[in-house]
Amino acid sequence: MSSLPSSVDVAIIGAGAAGLGAAHALRGSGLSVIVLEARNRIGGRAWTVQASPEVIFDVGCGWLHSSDKNSFVSIARELDFEVNTDLPPWRERAFGNVFPQSDRDDFMGAMDAFYQRLWEVAQKGEDAPASQSLEPGNRWNPMIDAISTYINGCELKDMSTLDWDAYEDSNLNWRIRRGYGALVAAYGENCPVALSCNVTLIDHAGKRIRLETSLGTLAADKVIVTVPTNLIADEAIRFSPQLPAKVDAAGGLPLGVDDKVTLALADADAFPKEGNLRGATMRTAMGTYHIRPFGQPCIEGFFGGSFARDLEDAGDGAIAAQSIDEIADLLGSDIRRKLKPLYESRWAQDPFARGSYSHALPGHAGDRAALAAPVDERLFFAGEATSPNFFTTAHGARDSGERAAKEVLAALSRI
Ligand SMILES: Cc1cc2nc3c(=O)[nH]c(=O)nc-3n(C[C@H](O)[C@H](O)[C@H](O)COP(=O)(O)OP(=O)(O)OC[C@H]3O[C@@H](n4cnc5c(N)ncnc54)[C@H](O)[C@@H]3O)c2cc1C
Repeated sequence: MSSLPSSVDVAIIGAGAAGLGAAHALRGSGLSVIVLEARNRIGGRAWTVQASPEVIFDVGCGWLHSSDKNSFVSIARELDFEVNTDLPPWRERAFGNVFPQSDRDDFMGAMDAFYQRLWEVAQKGEDAPASQSLEPGNRWNPMIDAISTYINGCELKDMSTLDWDAYEDSNLNWRIRRGYGALVAAYGENCPVALSCNVTLIDHAGKRIRLETSLGTLAADKVIVTVPTNLIADEAIRFSPQLPAKVDAAGGLPLGVDDKVTLALADADAFPKEGNLRGATMRTAMGTYHIRPFGQPCIEGFFGGSFARDLEDAGDGAIAAQSIDEIADLLGSDIRRKLKPLYESRWAQDPFARGSYSHALPGHAGDRAALAAPVDERLFFAGEATSPNFFTTAHGARDSGERAAKEVLAALSRI
């Protein structure tokens, strides 16, 4: 779309999985619709890059979590994207002797006991910090904290117990061979999107809603807001009149930080396909590694929480350098000459994400519903953070966009 229309029935802000889900659900409704996207591409936090001629890399989402309930699985099949149903190597497999089986069994026992205690606290309705469910003095506590940084993007002390408990995990995690980001981009291909259109103000004082954007002003009857919570909390996108309840809810659901890196691996055939590498390092500040995903000649690293944030702050290349140091510590320094940085994410520095995925702060599990609630039957809210049970995920985001679009249609039918 080359220029911005001056007026539409429905404007959707953000062309990530949520905004594209909303646009799809409004197809055939007879309404004029436009998706306003600040970036020069669609997909948002779903983004696949060709990191080298041999390596496809998902910079954001990679796993079709809860695959049996994931709406992107059927979309992938419709769009002829191969779905890989191999189970991930997170739990059972580990490469070499760096994390011996007996230690791993012990760690998994501690992790399961932690989950049981978390569940018991949630049953009592207590929205305590998840760190309260650690067993005092357990030697695996730092690693359990590290797992929280990978899952939630934050340490346990900042994680709401009720929010963690509300997440629906069916333990099936599939993948897309050509990339999850590529799938989301293909899903959005025919949606009416205005790119490089940064929305700065949503003025809902008048009869019609007026949007101020970097491409000019636009009037709309209904608006669906799908931008990440940190942008609402920081008021990078503003409402007039102000909506303090939305800003507060977004503030209770900050985006934590998770970052990924891919390293080219020479002599790849000497390493297992789909291997898992994690050392029993007894600390929270460490990466976790996936060796040769899809058999590709690379190792993918994953970092979370304040450690990932610190690495981002250390500058471009710091995540790759940290990965190579950790892998050399685990497998011996000979491997250094086999590894070459290809690509790393810096999601906290990304101006239109400002983090990776949302978690509720302790005491704030209810903020997801507060953020999702429409205002005056004119402003609607979607995005992963508004999903009641699949928050943090791309399919949760997509489904939330569809939900918001249905709310728009229901509101119109009441006029
Ligand atoms: C490292 C990482 C790993 C992940 N792994 C997984 C995984 O394995 N599986 C999974 O399901 N999920 C995963 N996720 C999460 C998943 O990517 C997100 O939950 C999902 O993509 C969010 O979609 P969304 O539409 O809610 O938000 P976004 O994708 O962020 O879309 C919002 C859009 O709004 C745009 N925008 C922002 N501000 C403005 C503005 N002012 N004006 C106009 N446009 C604006 C943004 O540019 C963006 O395109 C991961 C994320 C990261 C970062």
